[in-house]
Amino acid sequence: MSFSDLGLSDELLNAISDAGYTTPTPIQAQAIPYVLMGRDILGCAQTGTGKTASFTLPMIDILASGRAKARMPRSLILEPTRELAAQVADNFEIYGKYHKLNHALLIGGENMSEQIKRLEKGVDVLIATPGRLMDVFDRGHLLLRDVKILVIDESDRMLDMGFIPDVEKIVSKLPQMRTTLLFSATMPPEIKRLADKFLMNPKEITVSPPATAAETIKQSLVMVTGAGRDQTSIAKRKRAVLRLLIEREKPKNAIIFCNRKRDVDVVYRSLERHGYDTAARLHGDMVQSVRMETLDKFKKGVVSLLVCSDVAARGLDIPAMSHVFNFDVPTHADDYIHRIGRTGRAGREGVAITIAVPADGKYIDGIERLTGKKIDREELGGDGGADLERAERGGRDRGRGRDRDRSRKSDEKPATANARSDASDKAEKTEKPETPRQPSDDARRDEKPRAEKSGRGRGRRDDAGEMDDKDVVFGQSDQVPDFLKNFP
Ligand code: AMP
Repeated sequence: MSFSDLGLSDELLNAISDAGYTTPTPIQAQAIPYVLMGRDILGCAQTGTGKTASFTLPMIDILASGRAKARMPRSLILEPTRELAAQVADNFEIYGKYHKLNHALLIGGENMSEQIKRLEKGVDVLIATPGRLMDVFDRGHLLLRDVKILVIDESDRMLDMGFIPDVEKIVSKLPQMRTTLLFSATMPPEIKRLADKFLMNPKEITVSPPATAAETIKQSLVMVTGAGRDQTSIAKRKRAVLRLLIEREKPKNAIIFCNRKRDVDVVYRSLERHGYDTAARLHGDMVQSVRMETLDKFKKGVVSLLVCSDVAARGLDIPAMSHVFNFDVPTHADDYIHRIGRTGRAGREGVAITIAVPADGKYIDGIERLTGKKIDREELGGDGGADLERAERGGRDRGRGRDRDRSRKSDEKPATANARSDASDKAEKTEKPETPRQPSDDARRDEKPRAEKSGRGRGRRDDAGEMDDKDVVFGQSDQVPDFLKNFP
């Protein structure tokens, strides 16, 4: 099967060829002909399967004729996070290069008046997160009655983040006569219900997650024991383990996942203090322009260690990522799959190492049940125990650098990762989690889902896909709220 068998225009085939793609992925081969026919689609597929092109490609051909009127987009794509929305927009740039379609992004954290100006000019494709879309709609700058194609992408993530009431409200404003494409990595009953409500006689397509990814990823688990330790010192030990792993693995580029935004800050600052000057952080309390800039630096290799929350698990598409470190075991098994799937893409080798504490046992069981595979347990190599002690005390060259380090101010940053110091150790002992920046009113409105809780009983998340600190149970604690004890 080749792209030319799918009924796409010559302009599109040229753009696809320019992008270097020769063969459609299974979701593309199955969905594109039906979308071109105007059939609704219920696609069970996750990121990495090529699903974005499975809807952007036919949309470009369908929308090629016709013109958009002011404030009346001709198609609408709903995405749960800003990063995903931006990535879909990139797809339109790449595949739409021989067409004259225009698209606009309506996402939180960016200047709304600029976005409204864009809408006024008329857009063919509107890519939006639900919160910002509703804001702009409520203010009267958007009319949805001309939308002929609706895409609801990553529906299960929308559900997790409490966006479904917004999505239902948005769909109620659309014309009945339209094509609807709904994609979801999983099909919980709530998404099935939504599909029954929004789709008409849909073509159901299920593609398995890219199996090659899992096979090319070397997964392992490093257990951090914390007998007699309090949570602060266990967390400190985990940071020391992380540094040892980075030293041992020497990743070309790595994502370091934390469960909580606050810990993203703590781990990032800790790395920075220990001299990892190519580290950066990414979470939803950062202004959008900084988030995009950080991602860009990571893609270009200026940043090589990116500490982040699950925000990046769905949106980030970096073809040659060498490592994923889970600083925390994710509490939801499917998040583990998404996280490690950032590496080992397109058949490449990848390494995913998870740092765990004994209280994470139930979450690890859940992950192994879901993947059907036991994750290798590993000891820190060589003189692991002693190395760890040293790393916790402040570095390999502690003895050598002691006198020099004593004279250093506690907030002084060593020049390189290898110049670890007592100073950084002291700073860690006194470090206080940063108070998260308060987003602007607009951003806050956009980021907070209107529904308090999703139907699946997960913690509340914002449009960056993150858990609020207060809602999170984290691995080091045995204090598990009742709602999570029953979680499968
Ligand atoms: P997605 O699942 O849409 O996030 O796509 C995952 C990655 O696959 C992206 O980097 C796409 O650029 C890439 N991709 C999409 N379609 C193809 C194709 N037919 N051949 C090779 N790569 C593709």
